[in-house]
Amino acid sequence: MAHKINNELKKTCVRCHRTLPLSRFNKNNYSKDGHSSYCAECNREYQREYAARRRAETEIEITNKIALRNLTDEQLYEELERRGYRGRLYKVDALGTAFNPDAVEAPESVEMK
Ligand SMILES: [Zn+2]
Repeated sequence: MAHKINNELKKTCVRCHRTLPLSRFNKNNYSKDGHSSYCAECNREYQREYAARRRAETEIEITNKIALRNLTDEQLYEELERRGYRGRLYKVDALGTAFNPDAVEAPESVEMK
């Protein structure tokens, strides 16, 4: 929250803990005093870090997506479970009919890939 020091409105950055003039903080309509809780400098750094993290995550996602194609059904199932997917997986036959490959009465006419 902004406060007056020597007749100047100042605010302490929650990231670097420096007390700086309010003008060093970006405007933020969601904040009570109308200014961001990070100083402009920290905000810039944070944006940069965030962008770098997102870039890295996206690269991992792309790598994973490609890798999933080479997995066997068994590996794919384990991988999905590891990623937090829950529930039963169903195979879909050529006609688009879903069936559970584990079920005893899996249609015999359907070829499993
Ligand atoms: Zn700061």
